[in-house]
Order: sequence, then C-alpha cells, then structure tokens
Amino acid sequence: MAEKLYGGIEGGGTKFNCAVGDGPKNIVAEARFPTTTPAETLGQVIEFFTAYANDLQGIGLGSFGPFDVDYTSSTYGYITTTPKPHWGNTNVLGMLHEKLKLPIVVDMDVVVAGLGEAKWGASKDDSHSLYLTIGTGIGGGYIVDGKPFHGLTSLEMGHVRIPHDFELDPFRGACPYHGDCFEGLAAGPAVEKRLGQRGETLPDDHPFWDIEAGYIASALVNYILSLAPQRIIIGGGVMQKSSMFPTVRKKVQELLNNYINHDMLLNKIDEYIVPPALGGRSGMLGAIALIMDSGK
Ligand code: ZN
Repeated sequence: MAEKLYGGIEGGGTKFNCAVGDGPKNIVAEARFPTTTPAETLGQVIEFFTAYANDLQGIGLGSFGPFDVDYTSSTYGYITTTPKPHWGNTNVLGMLHEKLKLPIVVDMDVVVAGLGEAKWGASKDDSHSLYLTIGTGIGGGYIVDGKPFHGLTSLEMGHVRIPHDFELDPFRGACPYHGDCFEGLAAGPAVEKRLGQRGETLPDDHPFWDIEAGYIASALVNYILSLAPQRIIIGGGVMQKSSMFPTVRKKVQELLNNYINHDMLLNKIDEYIVPPALGGRSGMLGAIALIMDSGK
C-alpha cells in the first residue's frame, strides 16, 4: 500500500501556502501562491493538489478570516465579511471540495498554526498549548490534547480588554468594535495609526516598543490566569523586534508578581514564552495535522 499523504493549506491574506506530506520530516511537495482573487488563487491551489489527488487521504485548511468554522452554519467554510477585495462571502471550502472531491477539514489560520506547533513544534511535549500571532491582527489558538479548543464560538483572544494608561499612551485605539482592546492597541495597524509609520520601519530601540511589550504582557497574564497553558508560542511581525521576547517575559513576571508558584513562570520563562519552532511552516504543517487527526 502506498504511504498515506495529506494536503495542508495555510490560506493567508497575502499568500496561500500549500504542502503535501505527513509531517515536517516528510514534505513531498510545497508551493506558495499569491492571494489575488478566489478564482485565480484557489485555481492554482486546486491544480497543485490535483497532481497528488490519488495519494491524498484528505486536506486540511487554515484560512484567514473572518472564516466561518461552525459546521452547523449555512456559511460553514466561507470567508465571510472580510474587507479584503474579492474575498467577501467566498465559499472557499465549497470551491475546493467541488474540484478535489476529498475530505477537507477547516479551521482558522491561527488555530491551525497552533496545531502545527502543538504536534511537531515548540509545544510538542505539552497537552495545553497557546499560540498567538501579533501582526496585522491579533489572534490566538488554544490546543488541548491535540484538538483546537472551541466553545460557543471560536476564541477571539485579540479582543480582550487590557489596562490602558492614557497618560503614557493617549492613542484611543483602532478596533472598529472596541477601540482600545488588545488588538486595537497593539496590532500592526494600531502601531501605524498611532505613530504615522509602520512598525517594521520603527527602530528596535524606539520607546514605543516598551509600551507595546506591556500590552502583550497584560494579555498574556490574562490568558495564563484563565487558561493555564503549559507554553505560549508567539508569532507575527511585531515579535521580530530584538528586544520584544525578553521584555515581554520580564513584564509578565512583574505583573504576576510571584502569584503563581510554578517553575516555568518563576525560573524558566525563557522556555515558557517562545517563538514558533516550525518557522514559516507552522500553518501548513498544522493544516496537515488537522486532517491527519480528524479521523477522516
Ligand atoms: Zn476589538
């Protein structure tokens, strides 16, 4: 019998990353397609997987959002109200399914990246793993015993409320729903709106990064206290700044103030709050994990 292979798709706002394989040690093929229109981009994705259709057991897809992952919903598998041109109300799952005729399992991009890190990456030895991305938006995926955590809805960890000192940072926030929620204060567009330039062009030693690290630390403390993850993995552009991980770790310890008596928080914080171990492949590998472990 031929080996079992799976397809993984990380559908992002700028590109769709696709892979065929069964884990980081066995990626048979890999391709990246720019996110243009659904017909063009998904056409390329379909063509890529068609070459392997006979070997594939199924496909996992992690998509940018808002992405409907409630299988009881009439728009399950749709990208719904995105402001991204051409992609509003797009039945991504339906378009893939119609042409590829394979089992396809879907979840949000950040959840799937978290799944990849939990199965093969920085959190492979943990049962409770939190993955957070801080970039154009802020989102989190909480993986428990190898499964993405869903409740009434998916988690929306970017929109938690955090303390905001208006004297230190008079910016009112950029979230259209909440103003100064975590994402409204700390995501890329908020940084740009506040300072008039993109975070990427801001020097690593700019004083704003200390404020940014404080917002991230406040949110992490809320997640630590309410979800007790065994590790927190943070990806996304903001965390590329050289001082960000050390400063966030230090501020988390300061805010917790030794309240939680655990070695990971008191002495091993460098191993507790970490970057992704799979680099740019967390998402597509996580998408492979999603279908592999779905039982389909
Ligand atoms: Zn918000």
